[in-house]
Amino acid sequence: MTLSLYIHIPFCRHRCAYCDFNTYTSLGDLKAEYADAVCAELAQVAGGEKRPYHTIFFGGGTPSLMPPETIRQILQAVDVHFTPTGVPEITMEANPGTVDGAYLAAVAAAGVNRLSFGVQSAVASELALLERTHDFATAVTAVELARAAGLSNFNLDLIYGVPGQTLASWRASLEAVLALQPPHLSLYCLTIEPGTPMQRWLENGRIQLPDPDLAADQYDLARDLLAQHGYSHYEISNWAKPGHECAHNLTYWRDGEYLGLGAGAHGHAGGVRYQVVKQPRVYIKRVASGGAPGYPLSTAVADHHAISQEEAMTDAIITQLRLLQEGLDLAAFAGRFGRTLDEVYDGTVDQLADWDLVRVRDGRLYLTPQAYFLSNQVFYRFM
Ligand code: SF4
Repeated sequence: MTLSLYIHIPFCRHRCAYCDFNTYTSLGDLKAEYADAVCAELAQVAGGEKRPYHTIFFGGGTPSLMPPETIRQILQAVDVHFTPTGVPEITMEANPGTVDGAYLAAVAAAGVNRLSFGVQSAVASELALLERTHDFATAVTAVELARAAGLSNFNLDLIYGVPGQTLASWRASLEAVLALQPPHLSLYCLTIEPGTPMQRWLENGRIQLPDPDLAADQYDLARDLLAQHGYSHYEISNWAKPGHECAHNLTYWRDGEYLGLGAGAHGHAGGVRYQVVKQPRVYIKRVASGGAPGYPLSTAVADHHAISQEEAMTDAIITQLRLLQEGLDLAAFAGRFGRTLDEVYDGTVDQLADWDLVRVRDGRLYLTPQAYFLSNQVFYRFM
């Protein structure tokens, strides 16, 4: 099995109002040291064996704040310790306001061949509420610069379920990004996380909780509009033009193995699930402490456990059901675990099928369109 590599970059210029990701706004001075630590962690994790990989994903945080030479340094370290299978997909998340033509050309020359821009909305009042630091015109420019730098394979993120957002303003954002002809779109429903400014605004009445029925209507509108524009709805929150599905995220959704590197990253490989320590300064110190616990762990891993059979079964179901066109191969499940899905979850599939939330076709289990927006309620039944 070839690996996917996730590399977390925990730096942002400003924390957005809804964000609870592992990112820091005052540690930008650490970037060079941090890149060195990621390279050292790559060496530790590999443990002297050059395993095959097929994707790399720089996520964050804001990876596009890293100087191009640090991206090149990390990619060179990957190639010292791992072996690419074919041409690997190498994605970098980017904030529209952080890139210019020279930067994009430099990261493309370093090996990045896919971008993911956090656009979030085309509506100024929504971007302001989310405390994004760019406006939509900047996102349009970023897309033009990406294409000019040869980075024509890119994703745009949008958020729906935003307080104050209407069906009409959501349509406006969708139409504005569709005009940019992105090969891939990720649409996420806003969740208001504990400890974020947005949660405080909710508590003090500055914003109202978004109406879940409106969010469901916004999701349905997106499904219709994107189908009309030739996008395949291949995962619950992801749409792509044919051939532009995200290979890295497909590893997650096909329940494949991936290594998580960098502060706070999660990994799943060799029968182990783990998380790297979150604080960047501690991460750098822990990596520098030397030694190596053995593949797939590094000295910066804060927590890990062997994956039990029950956990593996749940993971297989709730990741693969997310793939709306592929679903879950029932014979492969039985072959892998020695028991059929019905034997493990007695009556669950029949009950969900009675409610028209799943269906079995040609030996595969799929969510029905009615379940797409309620998928967590289906997944809960398999946990
Ligand atoms: S840019 Fe992304 S990671 Fe950074 S604060 Fe905003 S939402 Fe969080």
